[in-house]
Amino acid sequence: MTIPSSTRYLIIGAGIHGLSTAYHLALQLKASGQGSGNDILVVDKGSLGAGASGIACGVVRNNYFQPAMRELMSHSVDVWESDPEAYSYHPVGYMQISPESMRSDVASIAEQQRDIGYESIFIDGGPESAEYMKGIFHDWQADGITSVLHEKKGGYANNTRMIYGLASKAEAQGVRIMTGLEVLGFETDNNGGNSVTGVRVSTGIISCDYVVICVGPWVKAVWEMLNLPKLITVKGVDGKVHENVPMWVFWSLQEGTLGVDPMLQRTNAGEMPPVIHVDTDAPLHSCVDGSLITEEMWGIYYKPDFHFGGIQGGAAPLKVETDADQVAVDPYGPNSPEFIVGSEFAHMWVSALAHCQRRFEGTMPKYKDEPSGGIGAFTPDSFPVFDVFRENCYVVADSNHGFKMIGVGKLVAEEICGQESTLMRPFRFSRYIEGNLHPVSNSPFPWS
Ligand SMILES: Cc1cc2nc3c(=O)[nH]c(=O)nc-3n(C[C@H](O)[C@H](O)[C@H](O)COP(=O)(O)OP(=O)(O)OC[C@H]3O[C@@H](n4cnc5c(N)ncnc54)[C@H](O)[C@@H]3O)c2cc1C
Repeated sequence: MTIPSSTRYLIIGAGIHGLSTAYHLALQLKASGQGSGNDILVVDKGSLGAGASGIACGVVRNNYFQPAMRELMSHSVDVWESDPEAYSYHPVGYMQISPESMRSDVASIAEQQRDIGYESIFIDGGPESAEYMKGIFHDWQADGITSVLHEKKGGYANNTRMIYGLASKAEAQGVRIMTGLEVLGFETDNNGGNSVTGVRVSTGIISCDYVVICVGPWVKAVWEMLNLPKLITVKGVDGKVHENVPMWVFWSLQEGTLGVDPMLQRTNAGEMPPVIHVDTDAPLHSCVDGSLITEEMWGIYYKPDFHFGGIQGGAAPLKVETDADQVAVDPYGPNSPEFIVGSEFAHMWVSALAHCQRRFEGTMPKYKDEPSGGIGAFTPDSFPVFDVFRENCYVVADSNHGFKMIGVGKLVAEEICGQESTLMRPFRFSRYIEGNLHPVSNSPFPWS
């Protein structure tokens, strides 16, 4: 395919957000008589799903302490449910299993899920939670659990299959996708305007009317190409103003696969189970030698996954302490020499599985010792920024928990076509200076 010299809409990044935006924008343009998929070009410096979307665990849940996140996620689950086959979506449900310190947070999530019509069951109390869990998994044995939120919707999707499904849907609408084409910079209005008139690639310039930036972990580099601030002012929830806060920090996601038969995790009824997420302050002991691993709060998630070939999941991410300017995003994911999980993660995660369910005792030798994990770029409050900069550049920066947010591309498309979305409003960049931050939960994860 020859590289076009111009396009109306140029989308950078062929991950979930770039492709979802492309597909939904094509539909919007057609429906409103403003154009079609032929007006859209997606470029990616790598291949389809070369970024975080191609290695994501793929968990889709609503369980967020922040009301705006829950509403956004409910919208995204509707999009997942609209075409489960193309999106390789498994609607098995999701369970948040928590200790006393999180009980009231999770109870309020359950209550608000009821208010927005998102189907879930909340189990309150230690013995009640144990009985509920044993009713699903006879070998459940995690102690110190005092609540269970069982979301009946959500589940997980297979990462690369979903990306290919979404790309096919976009291409069927006339969208062009060019891989191996890196955006190196932006051309701006020579008449003193602030808007972007095109992007620079190695072969020249592609001029465009509108740019959508969906570059996942590479957002810091592209943000700086647009001359957006590296350091920002954040007004905290307590009204205190914090100057010179780095706009982007990196976290390293800790994930791996236990190479057992995925069917091992069937429920008592012989069905495929919901995704399990456990947070607890119960001491965690090694399943290898009984030594104490931690007495601090810890959390894990897991699901049987035929695509990964076993029980796949992860634990809380680690903050990358290196100065963000020095962090090497490339080579990305399992190809990174730096940001892949090690034996410490494997030991902790498999011990945690065995802590929760007896069936995982003695399975440590089955852990798949292959590179896994990857880094993500997080915002100052660890929640997404969805906003327009430089007049015609829509930045979709999901703070690295957005595989589940397939509906964001639909909302971006609607906004580009002139319909402002109330679901997107709480994610504007101005929230930092205005102090309109999202509430913070007691979860050990930065994104809950
Ligand atoms: C290990 C791991 C597990 C995760 N698990 C989950 C999960 O279970 N559930 C969940 O909701 N989220 C999860 N996430 C987060 C989720 O994967 C990301 O938030 C999401 O995939 C980001 O999508 P994206 O489209 O913004 O970016 P990406 O998928 O990263 O795509 C960005 C694309 O932009 C391209 N690109 C970058 N710079 C340029 C440039 N200059 N020119 C051209 N192209 C460029 C890259 O090649 C890449 O293909 C996980 C993340 C990781 C790392």
